[in-house]
Amino acid sequence: MDWTPTRERALDRLARFLPRAGGKYAESRGYDDGPVGTSPGEGGRANVSQLSPWLHAGLIGETEVLEATLRQHSPREAQSFISEVFWRVYFKGWLEQRPSVWESFRETRAAAFARMEGNAGLRTAYQEATGGSTGIAAFDTWARELVEHGYLHNHARMWFASIWIFSLKLDWELGADFFLRHLRDGDAASNTLSWRWVGGLHTAGKTYLARADNIARYTAHRPSGPLAADGLADEAEPLTEAREHGRQPLDLPGPIAPEALAEPYALLLHDEAAHHIPLALPAAPSLVIGAARPELRSPHEVGGPAAQFARGAVASGMEDAGRAFECEGAWWEADGDLGAILDRAGIERVACPYLPTGWTRDALMPQLAPLADDGRIVWLLGDLARSTWPHARAGFFRVKKQIEPILGELGITGANPPADLPG
Ligand SMILES: Cc1cc2nc3c(=O)[nH]c(=O)nc-3n(C[C@H](O)[C@H](O)[C@H](O)COP(=O)(O)OP(=O)(O)OC[C@H]3O[C@@H](n4cnc5c(N)ncnc54)[C@H](O)[C@@H]3O)c2cc1C
Repeated sequence: MDWTPTRERALDRLARFLPRAGGKYAESRGYDDGPVGTSPGEGGRANVSQLSPWLHAGLIGETEVLEATLRQHSPREAQSFISEVFWRVYFKGWLEQRPSVWESFRETRAAAFARMEGNAGLRTAYQEATGGSTGIAAFDTWARELVEHGYLHNHARMWFASIWIFSLKLDWELGADFFLRHLRDGDAASNTLSWRWVGGLHTAGKTYLARADNIARYTAHRPSGPLAADGLADEAEPLTEAREHGRQPLDLPGPIAPEALAEPYALLLHDEAAHHIPLALPAAPSLVIGAARPELRSPHEVGGPAAQFARGAVASGMEDAGRAFECEGAWWEADGDLGAILDRAGIERVACPYLPTGWTRDALMPQLAPLADDGRIVWLLGDLARSTWPHARAGFFRVKKQIEPILGELGITGANPPADLPG
């Protein structure tokens, strides 16, 4: 699979996938055919879009993907694919209203790593799980695939998390951390909440149990045949946690008024918003600042594919913006001073794509907050998030019911696919 972290490649991948985004996707999305395929550059999973790394990095937006899908399929045909895209938006909005879940994940992950330090048995079990040598063939295949390719099929992620928690009896936070460090699409909301969902913490009492017959069935088309998974747990008792996570009201920026960016301003591109096109800016920036912090996904080393994708995405976004707006670019490194970059350029204002709960917000907010207090930041948030997040209060069902009205309200009909989409 060609994982080049550019908008151009995202659009190319989208164009190749679109003919399958209707009924074919609904029928076949559960199959994990493995990473090796016959079509050069596309890998072995033609049944799913594999767009998640580009979506996570903001090289392409969810609205653009939905628009392009509806250009080729009716809402009914593409219902299943559209609904999956909304799962991503749902998880983001849900975590935004319960940021203590992210905070608590960071704390309990640190505690789990500390426990492991003092326990040789746990250390060995963790090393076997992450090194792909547990003896559960399917699990070991995915562990190696994740590290090598930086991507796992959705079903494989579910089976893997379930086996990690219920068969290997390892702390879920360590598994979620392993995913975050290696997935190109590693996302604070989708990852943390999916692990919690498998373990029974997201939908209270509901867990996901991996079964060998189900794994064999949905991996049957792999070039080496179905994956075996012997010795799996046959029950999945929900996990529990001491802390309660109350919901806090959303405080979202409104649509951006054109006069807010009338004066010269700097555009900040970051790990979750690496391209200017999905941001639909009302005016051209005078400077583009890039901040990529993939190494902060975890206190432990982040895998090469994930780190390179994240940095590459921001670098390619800066290059495209520099070309489109004929302006300079500057990197804001982890030990750099944003204020000094702005002073040097003589710029007051920064347009900053909204920072959802997660490590990018944790990393950038300490320097952005004082500027925001001085009224120097213009926050950018897309209409899709603004319309969907308020419904992401409980289970996905509430959001699912709103998909049609939201698409109608925002005029997402297929009439406005990304202007630079080929074909
Ligand atoms: C334990 C676990 C951890 C996960 N961690 C992440 C993560 O860190 N980052 C991430 O983006 N997704 C995560 N997912 C969700 C899902 O597995 C991936 O989004 C999906 O596999 C990406 O492949 P795709 O682009 O081919 O998806 P497609 O099937 O083509 O779906 C299209 C898009 O919809 C979104 N989507 C699809 N399924 C889901 C889902 N179940 N939840 C949320 N969004 C979805 C993705 O943005 C995806 O690109 C996780 C799922 C599980 C079970």
